[in-house]
Amino acid sequence: MTTDGAGEHSFYDQVLESTPNGERLRLCLQCGDCSGICPFGYLMIHPPSRMIAHLRADRFEKVLDTDTVWMCVSCYACTAVCPAQIPLTPGLMARTKEELILAGNVPAELQSALENSQRYGNPLGESPRKRADWATGIVPEVKILGKVRKKVDVMWFVGDYPSYHPRVQLITKALTKVLNALGVDFGILGPEESSDGDSQRLAGERGLFEMLAEKNGMAFNKYEFNEIITTDPHAYNAIKNEYPGLDISFPIRHYTEFLADRLDQLKPLLKRDVKAKVTYHDPCYLGRANEIYDQPRAILQAIPGLELVEMSHNHKNSLCCGGGGGGMWLDGFQWEKAHVRLSEWRVSEALATGAEILAVACPYESPRFEDAAKTVQGAGQLKVRDIAELLVEAMDN
Ligand code: SF4
Ligand code: SF4
Repeated sequence: MTTDGAGEHSFYDQVLESTPNGERLRLCLQCGDCSGICPFGYLMIHPPSRMIAHLRADRFEKVLDTDTVWMCVSCYACTAVCPAQIPLTPGLMARTKEELILAGNVPAELQSALENSQRYGNPLGESPRKRADWATGIVPEVKILGKVRKKVDVMWFVGDYPSYHPRVQLITKALTKVLNALGVDFGILGPEESSDGDSQRLAGERGLFEMLAEKNGMAFNKYEFNEIITTDPHAYNAIKNEYPGLDISFPIRHYTEFLADRLDQLKPLLKRDVKAKVTYHDPCYLGRANEIYDQPRAILQAIPGLELVEMSHNHKNSLCCGGGGGGMWLDGFQWEKAHVRLSEWRVSEALATGAEILAVACPYESPRFEDAAKTVQGAGQLKVRDIAELLVEAMDN
């Protein structure tokens, strides 16, 4: 890397060239809004606005000599608030992390998740052969496309945590129940599905992201389906916004979009009251990154008996759970620096609404918020439920 701000292939030029609209970096006003809104900006030695100042002053090596860029959880808050519309999260922040990885300045837990992704196709280090084990015993049998070899209407890209994590598998099974109740003709890739790669990309591993995307693209091309749905907002973001740049283009919807379009069919199935005050957490990659705010709320409001209340940070201003863009694999590092978890802040906000249930729509969130509820004072009774689980609760007789 050349850190010379004026050189022919300076790091400044590389950041400008490597992201769509990257050249907007030149328009930075140095207003500091990005650093102010960043949830861990107060702990970064060089928060985003100062990183830009260092770039301009040809002193970026000062940023690369520190490790606090790893406090960035790729939450998109800086990008959303920037008055100059600079794509900070996928541009400067991801590109800087790439340099830190190349220099070996990378926390061990992140390194391990990246190595697992390379070796096993998922950050958890699980066997690809076990990717569809969650579906064992489900009736009717979940179609694995490589086995049934016939066209389906919907290909469900399940995602890493929904496939392997014991808590999140419960949500995967709940969504299976909802899809079956609606009579959706769906299938999954099972062992042929790899990590979507989006969090690895945002954590600075662009090459690994491309390898995973190409593997998924080859699997998509083997089977016939009309559209993809996914449980995971990170997979949604990758397949919708990043895969087309690699010539992998397929229509995709997050499951909340898919179900919101079927509310007329869904409502008659929701026969049981869920009498509870519920608050909804907007996931960063469904909300800020892709502006899907109304559909999850429309589904929740269709559940009889449920009262929806908002937290003080909602919609575009939602607080991050801390898991996105590699945050899932930086918990230990970030705890050492901050001695607080973003998920704990969010659980405290949920409690302040008087809600009994914190509703989520991203697979990173249930385990994170449930762990946080164990440590936040007074949160012991707060339930964390994915929207799919609340639907099943309303459907059960
Ligand atoms: S919010 Fe945008 S314009 Fe303001 S300092 Fe940050 S990058 Fe620059
Ligand atoms: S993406 Fe979020 S965590 Fe990263 S620098 Fe921006 S505001 Fe901070």
